[in-house]
Amino acid sequence: MAPYMIVDDVSDEYQHVRTQICDGCGFSGSYKVIMQRLVEIDGKPHDVLECKCKECGAERAFTYDVSVVFGRYGDMFGKRAKRSK
Ligand SMILES: [Zn+2]
Repeated sequence: MAPYMIVDDVSDEYQHVRTQICDGCGFSGSYKVIMQRLVEIDGKPHDVLECKCKECGAERAFTYDVSVVFGRYGDMFGKRAKRSK
């Protein structure tokens, strides 16, 4: 149901963006991240990277499931929230 790519680290998002081919001009790796924001989808944290092609100016947003990343931060800070059995 969730078609979003699950990432293990925020850097994976940027790496993924760099491999994308622009819909507008067909250049690969031409998307540049202009804004990153956090949204909640189905109760899970997701990162949205709003990108713009540096070749033709086309804009596109990519969404990633970052619940794994957040889960790890939870562990790092010693929180016990939402431990899976
Ligand atoms: Zn383009």
